[in-house]
Amino acid sequence: MLNIKDLYAKVEEKDILKGLSIEVKPGEVHAIMGPNGSGKSTMGNVLSGRPGYEATAGSVTFKGKDLLELETEERAREGLFLAFQYPVEIPGVSNMEFLKAAVDAKRKHQGLEEISSVDFLKLARETCKRVNLDASFLKRGVNEGFSGGEKKRNEIMQMMLLEPELCILDETDSGLDIDALQVVADGVNAMRDGKRSFLVVTHYQRLLDYIVPDYVHVLAGGRIVKSGDKSLALELEAKGYGWLENEVV
Ligand code: ADP
Ligand code: MG
Ligand code: MG
Repeated sequence: MLNIKDLYAKVEEKDILKGLSIEVKPGEVHAIMGPNGSGKSTMGNVLSGRPGYEATAGSVTFKGKDLLELETEERAREGLFLAFQYPVEIPGVSNMEFLKAAVDAKRKHQGLEEISSVDFLKLARETCKRVNLDASFLKRGVNEGFSGGEKKRNEIMQMMLLEPELCILDETDSGLDIDALQVVADGVNAMRDGKRSFLVVTHYQRLLDYIVPDYVHVLAGGRIVKSGDKSLALELEAKGYGWLENEVV
């Protein structure tokens, strides 16, 4: 599904990723943890093709294709989804229009016709229900006046509508209350199907009680310094990251 090999990347002339390697197979959930500023968000931004985040060495293949050669939009159409890719408010564009445009872009790529407004409304309403968002959110401007928790529920709704093959969630849990966290986790778990893969960036072990990962990696200093199973997250919760410092070059 995704093979990141010895990836180096810089932002604003600063080297951030320094030899990052991760392999994600279909259906796997990989949690990425690590100290602040270690490059977790940079990794997501480089993978999704956000302008300003430049890969300088190494390779990333996604479903056998050279991901770094693809434009941002192409990456999304190929099935890569970064939650919080669009955290900005887009006044004047309703959430509904925005979501439908995203769904239609993907359908077009698959050689399908646009979804009818009636069908989309039905689908979007059902999806709202699944993430406990009132259907009135569809009419509001994208993220306009949404609370932190609502923005994140909205992102999970977007993810459910787009049915991506690889989902990258960047600190989806930060600032969420327990109920919202449960909604996010339920959403992710409902989408786990043995084929779809997830990269879940989180600061807290707590989320991983709900979204049980196959692997846990510690990203520090721009590369993976330790990998393990879910028990590693518990160990980190108890010991912090300091004990790994020797392994950070
Ligand atoms: P994490 O998500 O692990 O906390 P980030 O990837 O956000 O870490 O940041 C890694 C480093 O890259 C930090 O030192 C941060 O200041 C820097 N960085 C990230 N994005 C930018 C940017 N757009 N401009 C300048 N520096 C950036
Ligand atoms: Mg951070
Ligand atoms: Mg971050």
